[in-house]
Amino acid sequence: MRTHATADHSRHSVLVVEDDDTIGRHLATGLRGNGYTPTWSRTGSAALAEAARNPYDVLLLDLGLPDLDGLDVARTLRAHHPDLLIVILTARTDDIDIIAGLDAGADDYLVKPFSLTVLLARLRAHLRRRVVAAPQQEPVRLADLVLDIAARRCTLHDEDIELRPKEFDLLAVLARRSGEAVSRETLMAEVWDENWFGSTKTLDVTMAGLRRRLTEAADISARPAGLPRITTLRGHGYRLES
Ligand code: CA
Repeated sequence: MRTHATADHSRHSVLVVEDDDTIGRHLATGLRGNGYTPTWSRTGSAALAEAARNPYDVLLLDLGLPDLDGLDVARTLRAHHPDLLIVILTARTDDIDIIAGLDAGADDYLVKPFSLTVLLARLRAHLRRRVVAAPQQEPVRLADLVLDIAARRCTLHDEDIELRPKEFDLLAVLARRSGEAVSRETLMAEVWDENWFGSTKTLDVTMAGLRRRLTEAADISARPAGLPRITTLRGHGYRLES
């Protein structure tokens, strides 16, 4: 039973990767004060070593690090920890950096300066969704694609397709409403954050990535492969048909 917003994430471990002392201390203190268990690394290499030693639920990752490129840290950790929630913290406001971050495997981003309150709300939403999205659904067949939401696997003729976490979530939401028009607002709310007030460019980028990965998988498949069709409904959203 949920009695309080903080009740269900009280023991989530967070690896904070930030070389700025003030921000790092602020994050560590704020997270600890809100029921998380933070560990603070000041460099990319220290973070990689720490993540190899201990399992983490969340990675808060500054992109501008003194030793490694934050994007490389994100890629490496994503490759080894598919379920890690990765939120990048960036002072870079160029869309291209944000897109690169999401492409490197981040689930979300915050542009500095951001408030602790907003960060906590984003974490709550992501972590709650993981609980909601969890288990006990039968695999769904979409043309020749099989989507096993419980196992978070997407296969084409039994070959795994490596989807980014948000690409998988996006496909799962569309699959659950197969044949129906799903609005951009619904997708933003269900895949990202119901309190999302920002640009929906992230949705376009994620959809493009999803379509690309599916097409590539079909192209290299040994057998002729049928993909579900994702139709863009201009000014509204998308519809998946299998
Ligand atoms: Ca920095």
